[in-house]
Amino acid sequence: METISIIVPCLNEQEAIPLFYEAFLKDTAGMDTAFEFWFIDDGSTDGTMAALRALRSADERVHFISFSRNFGKESAMYAGMQAATGDYVAIMDVDLQDPPALLPQMLNGIRAEGYDCVATRRVTRKGEPKVRSFFARAFYRLINRISKTEIVDGARDFRLMTRQMVESILSLGEVSRFSKGIFSWVGYRTKWLEYENIERVAGESKWSFWKLLLYSIDGIIGFSTAPLAIASVVGVLFCLIAFVLILFFFFKTIIWGDPVAGFPATICIILLLGGIQLFCVGILGQYLSKTYLETKRRPIYIAREKQ
Ligand code: UDP
Ligand code: MG
Repeated sequence: METISIIVPCLNEQEAIPLFYEAFLKDTAGMDTAFEFWFIDDGSTDGTMAALRALRSADERVHFISFSRNFGKESAMYAGMQAATGDYVAIMDVDLQDPPALLPQMLNGIRAEGYDCVATRRVTRKGEPKVRSFFARAFYRLINRISKTEIVDGARDFRLMTRQMVESILSLGEVSRFSKGIFSWVGYRTKWLEYENIERVAGESKWSFWKLLLYSIDGIIGFSTAPLAIASVVGVLFCLIAFVLILFFFFKTIIWGDPVAGFPATICIILLLGGIQLFCVGILGQYLSKTYLETKRRPIYIAREKQ
């Protein structure tokens, strides 16, 4: 019998864990596969570990890895994929926003239709603040324009993959991981299932607007070098403008002879150019800092306990 490894990152999810486990078993009861659970405790400070130990003592298919601190969901997914031994690997949120009832259909996509991966995307952003949806859309439009790797709008991390694809993902050892890009970068044939956004069953979202913003910058820096070209493009543009202006003022002075006044204009131009230069240096700094962090070759996570 084939086995599916279920990877579930958990950060402070003591209420959601038992609900997830029950709902999962109920919704997948008819499947002809064995399951193996890998819950990743991502440095939780509530009763998450107690909930996981209780599950483990009741069901030996349940395993867990407990991180020494919070390393982020990306690291948790990596740890889970490393530990998983199944023929197929699925990643799921513990808050039941990823319906386990879709798994039979996903497995069918791989077994019967020959896909390597069945992924999910939500087609609505219902229940999400309007501002957040606006910035999310803008982000996807921007990154897809400047990156060669396709980043699908609304794609969730909920997906079922073959062992081969998981091995490929594990072979990308970068420390700042942007999974939406990594999943797409490794290629393979992916089938997309769509569903409406579901509100989480207990607890609250771990994503603040600020965290999302930093995450989106990670995505852009990790999967596009286009911002690096901005400095060159803007530089050339301003040289051209300056050249035209010099000619203009030169001939204006020769023909009409009036001196060029314009102290305020000078200040504005100095401020504008100063701003653009700092902005471009800032972009360079972003890439440099990522390079710096990657060259340290620090581990992606540190586990305190694994069972
Ligand atoms: N999560 C995690 N580490 C983090 C943040 C989140 O392991 O630093 C887990 C969280 O417990 C949940 C999943 O990742 O199972 C998705 O998080 P959340 O529901 O907060 O995100 P959203 O669904 O709002 O995008
Ligand atoms: Mg969620």
